[in-house]
Amino acid sequence: SAWITDFVTSVESGRPEPRPTGSNGQRFGGQLVLVTGAGSGIGRATAVAFAEAGARVIAVDRDAESAARTAELSRLVGAAGAWAETVDVSDETAMEKFAERVRAEHGVVDVLVNNAGIGLSGSFLDTSAEDWRRVLDVNLWGVIHGCRLFGRQMAERGQGGHIVNTASAAAFQPSRLLPAYSTSKAAVLMLSECLRAELAGRGIGVSAICPGLVNTGITATTRFAGADAEEEKRLQKRSTRLYGLRNYPPEKVAEAIMRAVVRNEAVVPVTPEARVSKLMARFTPGA
Ligand code: NAD
Repeated sequence: SAWITDFVTSVESGRPEPRPTGSNGQRFGGQLVLVTGAGSGIGRATAVAFAEAGARVIAVDRDAESAARTAELSRLVGAAGAWAETVDVSDETAMEKFAERVRAEHGVVDVLVNNAGIGLSGSFLDTSAEDWRRVLDVNLWGVIHGCRLFGRQMAERGQGGHIVNTASAAAFQPSRLLPAYSTSKAAVLMLSECLRAELAGRGIGVSAICPGLVNTGITATTRFAGADAEEEKRLQKRSTRLYGLRNYPPEKVAEAIMRAVVRNEAVVPVTPEARVSKLMARFTPGA
């Protein structure tokens, strides 16, 4: 899907090039795919990749404008339908209403990608209770709400489906850099594995995607709390050593997500970084 980046850039510059056809065929033709955090980075790349593969796409973000832009891009690459929705995934009531409305207006979602997430860095002792809550509300509760509400609809329909949760290589890598974020992602990983075991008998797959550092808004905006410029540089270097290259393209993560759905993969490392892969090898997917 490398062409998607070029295509999107050409659209942004006001000179859209014709999109090549057939790169993904209609692999997801007729399917309804809902992506959260679809307004940016990995979520946008994922929504556009599914759209290009013929899916109907619901792009969810708490930022209305960026969700609308993703829906527009999805239509441009050939989505069978694309809708933007402004929802905060951490808001339980809003998510309940939203899930009901989606079923009424579009039917049951075939592929759910719980991708919305926020970054937070800073040592454990420097992290306030409020910051802990904020990260867990979005990164963990957002995934719980998505899985509960849309997973239940899939189970009731009885025709299978797939849930992808965006965890992170940070879920495997203990570090002083990102305790709250890493904890939230480790929880997403375990949640995904438990749910995978529970839903397997119903033909519903669950995958946990674990990217290393990816070139998105999160990596551009997450700063190390309390660090001066010199310290920031040192910590950035350290995080690159732990989590991999910073310039990894979100489109490649989108590809890994689609592959995980097609092959029903459990825990998916998406990182060129050997150290994290080795840590991940210690993790035994459950039964
Ligand atoms: P990003 O900041 O570019 O995109 C995240 C999107 O989620 C934004 O559009 C934001 O508005 C939206 N969002 C945030 N909170 C939300 C909420 N409460 N409700 C709805 N939407 C919300 O970041 P990204 O790198 O594309 O991150 C996507 C996912 O990938 C996150 O879960 C992140 O933790 C994970 N991840 C990222 C990296 C990386 O290095 N970029 C690595 C591993 C995992």
